[in-house]
This record gives sequence, structure tokens and C-alpha cells, in this order.
Amino acid sequence: MAIAKYLMAEMTWPELREVVGEGRIAVMPAGIIEQHGPQLPLNTDIFLAEQITNLAAALHPDKVVVVPPIVHGHSPHHMDFPGTLTVDPQHMINYVLDVCLSLSHHGFRKILIVNGHGSNAPVLDLVARQTIIRTGGKTTCASIFYMNSVEFEGKTAELFPEMAGRFGHAAQVETSVYIGLRPELVQIDKAHDDPPTDLMLLGTAKLPLRLIWSSFSKEGIYGTVSNASPEKGQKLLAAAVEGWGKVFVQFYEKQIPGRVDHH
Ligand SMILES: [Zn+2]
Repeated sequence: MAIAKYLMAEMTWPELREVVGEGRIAVMPAGIIEQHGPQLPLNTDIFLAEQITNLAAALHPDKVVVVPPIVHGHSPHHMDFPGTLTVDPQHMINYVLDVCLSLSHHGFRKILIVNGHGSNAPVLDLVARQTIIRTGGKTTCASIFYMNSVEFEGKTAELFPEMAGRFGHAAQVETSVYIGLRPELVQIDKAHDDPPTDLMLLGTAKLPLRLIWSSFSKEGIYGTVSNASPEKGQKLLAAAVEGWGKVFVQFYEKQIPGRVDHH
């Protein structure tokens, strides 16, 4: 009988061997413990990434295995705010790569990292590429920011047209999703809007200026919070879960061409 479980941490080793044999993909949330303004808990990024991953995996339990999350991440630019825990990028590359290579060793041929923290992205992208290189192409790996699905981006544009494609930080999107899941943990009355300026623009071009956050954000917020609501959060969450459910199935079904050595 097929194994109904999809959370790796709850499986035994014979069960894990069996689900790998079924050709399931490994999906692994990644995030951070980091300041998210005076209103959101420090676990915002990892909590949201893990919730979305688990809910999307529950839609396709025969195609995925959810790997326990990478809780800690890279965020030296938020260290002026108490509670942020940051990992050196080289340590993080080595640590997450070791986890991915372990998954490959046990037979997973596809690994998808569901990233909840923007500044993890360049680090996890290197991890994904190194996983492919170090396994000689046997295991394919990719890291995607959890807000980057057509469904989520579409719903964000519909609910918050003023954002013009920006996600902000500890702003309306994250605050809404969190308050939709755990309203008792969000102290929205403590937050103040801190709308984006043209600091991160050069004319109309985006300027990837990686400044220390306390230099431009008073409370650790970048964006508008006052228009967040649990109803909007539930809509965003549903869009994220729908989008990631599709992403999981498409990655599961994707045919990866083998390498050719032309020497
Ligand atoms: Zn965040």
C-alpha cells in the first residue's frame, strides 16, 4: 500500500526509501529568524514558507516529500534590530549544500527549496547550482522565493495595486498572510507605514542597493501596513498554496535532459 505520509520527519527509514523509489520530489522550506517590524513575530519568513509548503504538499502527497526546514538564514543587514539571527553566507552555502547532497545520496533526483527570505536567494541559488554540479547532474535542484508564483503575484497586484510589483518587508503582504493564519500573534496597532521612496531607484531602473536596514527604515518596516487584513491574508495564502501546488506537480513531471561529455 502506498505511503500516505509526506512529511519526511515523520517517516521511518524504510518508508523514506519507499517514497524515494516512487520518484517523489523533495521540497524544503528555508527562511530565517529576523526582525519584521514591531508587529510581526521573528519567525515570519520561515513560518510562512513552511505553512505554504505544507499546505501545498498536502494537495499532492503522492508526489512530494517535505524536508524539515532550513530555519536560519542570511541577514547581516538587519542586525541593528534585536532578534535577527544571521548565518555567514559561506557557512550557509556549506550547510544547506550538505543537506541537499544528503538528500541526493538517499536517492532524491529533484529538490525544490521554497525560500521565504529574499536575502537568502543568492546563497540558495549557489547551493542549487552546486547540488547539480556536485552530483554530476544526477540531482536537479532549484530555489524559488515563495511569493514568485503567477497566482501569488496576480493576487498581490489585485489586492494591493499601489505596490506596483514590490513585496516590501514586514508590510501589507507578510502582515496580511500572518494575521490570516495566527491573528493572536500580530500586533498591528504597533506598526506604522513606512512607504518606499526612490532610494532604491536610479531613474526608473531598480537599484539593488544593499544598505543596512536601520539607515532607511525606522521600525524595520518597508512599505504600508495599514491596509493589511486577515481576509486579504487568507486570499493571498490560498493563491500561494494553489500556485505552489502547481509548481510541485510541474517540477515532479519535468523531464530533465542528461549531460553530454563532448571530450
Ligand atoms: Zn519577510
